Amino acid sequence: MLTDLFGRQITYLRISVTDRCNFRCVYCMPPQGVPHVPHERIMRYEEIAAFVQVAARQGIRKVRITGGEPLVRADLPRLVEMISDIEEIEDISLTTNGILLEKYAGALAQAGLSRVNVSLDTLNPKKFARISRGGDLNKVLRGIEAAEIHGLTPIKINSVIMRGINDDELADLAKLTLNHPWNLRFIELMPIENQQPWGEGFPPPEDIFMPVSEVMALLRPLGLHPVELPGDSGPALPYRLDGGIGTVGFISPLTEQHFCQRCNRIRLTADGNLRPCLMSDLEIPVLPALRDGEPVLPLLIEAVHKKPISHQLDGHIVPSGRCMIQIGG
Ligand code: SAM
Ligand code: SF4
Repeated sequence: MLTDLFGRQITYLRISVTDRCNFRCVYCMPPQGVPHVPHERIMRYEEIAAFVQVAARQGIRKVRITGGEPLVRADLPRLVEMISDIEEIEDISLTTNGILLEKYAGALAQAGLSRVNVSLDTLNPKKFARISRGGDLNKVLRGIEAAEIHGLTPIKINSVIMRGINDDELADLAKLTLNHPWNLRFIELMPIENQQPWGEGFPPPEDIFMPVSEVMALLRPLGLHPVELPGDSGPALPYRLDGGIGTVGFISPLTEQHFCQRCNRIRLTADGNLRPCLMSDLEIPVLPALRDGEPVLPLLIEAVHKKPISHQLDGHIVPSGRCMIQIGG
């Protein structure tokens, strides 16, 4: 029902609930951090749910909660419950760094969360702490285990590909799917406000990008068999390794020519702006209308109609207004 000017049906809403995080990942934010939006300008749960209700009536069926780190926001299960009460919404998922998942997995499952995506770029605890600027790998692994115990499955694992940082571990990450029914997805590094030096011991940012094609070549000796996943499996093209019980997928927003053609999503930032495309600075504010009791449907339609046909990274046009943590990846 929400169709953009290029015929793409928009059925998927990604909601950032906070611009704060308990990690400071090198690819996501600058070393000095970013100024936080004051609390009163962050959408309240009631405002988010009111917006989702409008969007659901227009054909939104899938909602993903993200951030910043969504689990640092107080009482997130309450929002999950509010969204799962909206009849048309068929699937609610959460993207998290996993560090608080051990604590909240049970409450999230009970509130109606369908499943989680956990970010995991390395299996080396020291490297993990360096990439996340302080994160504890073992706690994240315990978080994934808790999510499995509480049925927040199928679990997707997101690994950002970084040459000179985790390229020596990509096969080991892929091999996780031999023993775990996880959908591991390798994601190309996106140039969103991360072109300044990442800190001591990291290669220059311009040397770090590595295309999915190279990762696939590296993994081919492990066997890469295309598989069909039921339903909409998202932007990752899934494969199974020889003997694997999970899948390995590849998300290539930069190098796959037709990536944007399959885009079915729109984003809502924590401070209440609709963002038609992750890779474009264009945003349409909805929070003032929500707070003034004005209709938000025209703004939703405007945002859908303003979805660009594709990003313009080829032309070196990169978003410059916000970094990933502020948009909601
Ligand atoms: N804090 C949560 C997490 O880390 O999963 C959710 C927010 S985070 C911004 C969402 C996803 O974006 C993570 O999987 C992260 O690895 C990814 N991400 C962040 N910056 C990125 C970048 N520059 N390029 C590619 N992926 C990025
Ligand atoms: Fe935080 Fe996620 Fe960004 Fe890492 S990727 S800094 S965990 S928001």
